[in-house]
Amino acid sequence: MRLVVFMVDALDVRDVKRLNLSNLMGARYGTYPAVVSPTHGKPFTPYAWATIISGSEPRNAGLDSWWSWGRVLDKVRTLPIIKKIPGKRKILEKLGVRPKLATIRGRGTTIFDDIHDSVALFIPSYSEPLWIRDSYIEASKRGLRAYIEQVWRIHGFRRRCILNALKLCRRWRLFAAWVDVVDMIGHACIAKHRIHYDLALKAVDGLAREMKEVLRSQGIEFAFAVVSDHGMEPQPDGTGDHSSLGFWSIEPNIPWYRPSRATDFRYLWRRIVEEL
Ligand SMILES: [Zn+2]
Repeated sequence: MRLVVFMVDALDVRDVKRLNLSNLMGARYGTYPAVVSPTHGKPFTPYAWATIISGSEPRNAGLDSWWSWGRVLDKVRTLPIIKKIPGKRKILEKLGVRPKLATIRGRGTTIFDDIHDSVALFIPSYSEPLWIRDSYIEASKRGLRAYIEQVWRIHGFRRRCILNALKLCRRWRLFAAWVDVVDMIGHACIAKHRIHYDLALKAVDGLAREMKEVLRSQGIEFAFAVVSDHGMEPQPDGTGDHSSLGFWSIEPNIPWYRPSRATDFRYLWRRIVEEL
C-alpha cells in the first residue's frame, strides 16, 4: 500500500486531545518515548528525525546541530570548554567556513533507501533546506513579531509545496513531508500567546485534511501515518521546550502498527509499503 508519512515537529498528544485534532488522530494513535540527544540531554530535532528515518540512533554523527562545519570542527565545537563560547558561528563565517546541512546521508541508510519511489520533503538531517533555518535566525534578530511572521510565511511555503507535490507526483510509494510550525510557534508562544500556538496546531490539522482530500480526489488508496519527534510543554520562564513523548497515529487501523520506540518506524513503514 502507498504510505504518506506526515512528520509534525513537536506535536504533543495532550494538544491533539485538547483541541480534538481529528485529522491527526487517524484511526488509532499513541505515544512513544522521544529519543534523547546525548549532547543536549533532551530531545533534539535533527538527531530525533535522523533516528526515526534511519531506524537507529546516529551517535557521533554530528547531528547535534542543524549545521555542519565538517567533521573536525563539529567535534571541536561540542567540546565542553568550547561549547559555551558565544559567536563561534560568526567567527567561522568570517574565516570563510560556511556551514552545510548536518545530514544522515553518507553516514547510514534510511527508509528512503529501502523504498526507491519515495518523496522526502523538508526532512531534518536529510532534505530540509538550510536557507529556511537561516531565515528564522535572521527574522528573530528583528524581534518576536518578525519571527512569528516568518514562521507562518515558511509554513505557507511548505503547505503549497506539499499539496502541489501530492497533485503532480504520481510515482511515489512513500511520500514523507515535515512541518515545523508547531515547534517554532510553541517555543515562543505556548504560554504567553496561547492563541498563536493553538492556531499552529489547527493549521497542521487542516493540512492533514487537505493532503487526504488531494489523494482521495485522485482515487489513490493510501495509509496515512502521523509522527512527531517529541512534544512541547511550557517552561517556568514562559517559553516552551521539548517534552519527552513523541506522538504517532495511523489510518486505516493496521493492527500490528504499534511503534514503541523511535527506532521502530522505519521497519513499520517499510512493512506497510511492501506487504499491504
Ligand atoms: Zn523537534
